[in-house]
Amino acid sequence: MIFHRLFAEQALLPDGWARNVLFEVDADGFVSAVTADSPGQSPGEGAERVAGPVVPGMANLHSHAFQRVMAGLAEQAAHPDDSFWTWRELMYRFVGRLDPPQIEAIATQLYVELLKAGYTAVGEFHYLHHAPDGAAYADRAETGKRLLAAARTAGLGITLLPVLYGYGGFGGQPLGEGQRRFRNDPEGILEIVARLQAAASGDPQVRIGLAPHSLRAVTPGSLSEALEGVNALDPAAPLHIHVAEQTKEVEECLAWCGRRPVAWLLGEVAVDSRWCLVHATHMESSETGALARSGAVAGLCPTTEANLGDGLFDGPRFWTAGGAWGIGSDSHVSQSPIEELRLLEYGQRLRDRRRNVLRGTAPGVGAELFRGALAGGAQALGRPLGRLAPGSRADLLVLDPETPALIGLEGDPLLDALVFAGNVNPVRDVAVGGRWVVRQGRHTAEAQALRGFAEARRALLA
Ligand code: ZN
Repeated sequence: MIFHRLFAEQALLPDGWARNVLFEVDADGFVSAVTADSPGQSPGEGAERVAGPVVPGMANLHSHAFQRVMAGLAEQAAHPDDSFWTWRELMYRFVGRLDPPQIEAIATQLYVELLKAGYTAVGEFHYLHHAPDGAAYADRAETGKRLLAAARTAGLGITLLPVLYGYGGFGGQPLGEGQRRFRNDPEGILEIVARLQAAASGDPQVRIGLAPHSLRAVTPGSLSEALEGVNALDPAAPLHIHVAEQTKEVEECLAWCGRRPVAWLLGEVAVDSRWCLVHATHMESSETGALARSGAVAGLCPTTEANLGDGLFDGPRFWTAGGAWGIGSDSHVSQSPIEELRLLEYGQRLRDRRRNVLRGTAPGVGAELFRGALAGGAQALGRPLGRLAPGSRADLLVLDPETPALIGLEGDPLLDALVFAGNVNPVRDVAVGGRWVVRQGRHTAEAQALRGFAEARRALLA
């Protein structure tokens, strides 16, 4: 299952597409050498020849794994003005019932699905820490460790982001009944971070960060205390936060402090390239420019943002300012990176009544989107991902050259077709850390994962 030398006739390298590429991978799953134009087009001694073009695996920078079990269950009109906030009530009803084995089973199924679709690493924004009555488990990091176990079973890389969730609204309002499983003060969440760091120590597949849930769920004091604490544990830990997803959140923030959420955050906190601002949907133009200049990643989740009626990100302004961005599947109404990238561009086209809106320096829009999401996703997850070069993880996809949309194409036009044409999954084989986890479209643990998920889902629906 583990390869050390791999030969591809076509591969996407950091400098562009290359032919006859020999990859060498070390025992820890890092790329140790890449040789393009490998002589004689021969696979070389002991190298495995792959069946199609090779591209880096995609990072999924924003996930709430447990929400996979309720995806598709909130699509019935229940209220005259169904919204994010009425969806959240349904989500809280599921949250109240999940136990740790179910959390692990749901995550395992999700992670298998993500791998089959071409994601090779996830950012797990994890706030479901405590028992249904709000009491801490004997090990405060119990549910986080369940997610690490799910990632290990599936073979997915993970950046686990334990969430600081202390309040139910701006200005330190008390939590609601449905939020008691999330409650942590800075001391509690830092204990969880430390326990997870110990559990993940030395594992190149895992990184631990921290996520203040949103400006609704922290106070300025608790936010700075948690940031100071996590910096003491790991000065480079990835930091993620939900921000400006809904207009109501913007209005409440204005009422609280007179500033909009992104403006407040950029003004009061040293936001830099360690940060990922998830959604950042509702910004004024000055906020969009300032976010791009900060070096932080905008964590865009197009299918979830569409499903929840959030709004559209100001792509053209952010692209012009050279901002970093990546994609996340968030609530898991989709598990496909292709669908996220396609909808990201289509939302911009529909709003602006133009074509090829999110363009880069090269002409291909699909290729621009694919490359941008690789780079920003890797940055947000704080791991050496998204590029097939020495020192990076050997996380790669082999595309099926016989998929109708890809036949006869190579280079960037192949990525354009990958993003914008077809509904057949073109991902044939997937390797993470140099280990094959998907072969010919099948994941090695998919039957077992589906059984566990089905049991959890039936129990929760009963
Ligand atoms: Zn989220």
